[in-house]
Amino acid sequence: MSDIAKNIYEIEEDIKKHSSNPEKVKFIGVTKYVGIDEMLEVARCGVKVFGENKAQVIKEKQEKFKELGINDIEWHFIGNLQKNKVKYIAEYVNLIHSVNKLSLAQEIDRRAEQNNRKIDVLLEINIAGEESKEGYNLEELYQELPEIIKLKNINIKGLMTMAPFSDDETLVRGVFKKLREIKEELNEKYFNGRLTELSMGMTNDYKIALEEGATLVRIGRKIFQ
Ligand SMILES: *Cc1c(COP(=O)(O)O)cnc(C)c1O
Repeated sequence: MSDIAKNIYEIEEDIKKHSSNPEKVKFIGVTKYVGIDEMLEVARCGVKVFGENKAQVIKEKQEKFKELGINDIEWHFIGNLQKNKVKYIAEYVNLIHSVNKLSLAQEIDRRAEQNNRKIDVLLEINIAGEESKEGYNLEELYQELPEIIKLKNINIKGLMTMAPFSDDETLVRGVFKKLREIKEELNEKYFNGRLTELSMGMTNDYKIALEEGATLVRIGRKIFQ
């Protein structure tokens, strides 16, 4: 087995071990570190969901896969998305994890309509309030939510967060738990149970995230180490 195959196998085993609902968990291979050859190997190992954080790069990679006749890949945008870059991804992106302001949501809505489709999105929340991280604080979220909910061409599927980079398990677990609680609250107040996804957990902390109910884990370094 190659290292990539072995690492992917380990992650899949961890999902079964740490999630109470493993069949609901989607493993996103974060491929921002690598080129097409490594991505082809990841796909051969059965991981068909790729996460990228640069709009022009994801577009190039998506086009390359299409040229190769590989059409069974899901493309997820996971990083900070500038409004003027939405146009590069609107035609094909399967899920945008990082909606963090109304103006961005409005641009995604507009581009989705232009492309005659609806785009699935997550709301990104900055639970720990770290300056260096993107995402809504709760006050802003509650301010903008009524407007976001009116947008007809985006489907809000759930929430995303990044935990602080820390060895303090209690801190990290608290962040994931809080995201789950916010999802429950928003489901009661606004969404009537329609928020189903929790995108949380990366190489450092995916096991904890799975234990706290992650449905989407975004893992890069562990695949390619
Ligand atoms: C890079 C990235 C990841 C993957 O992190 P790893 O530590 O490589 O597993 C997950 N989410 C986001 C938003 C990222 O930018």
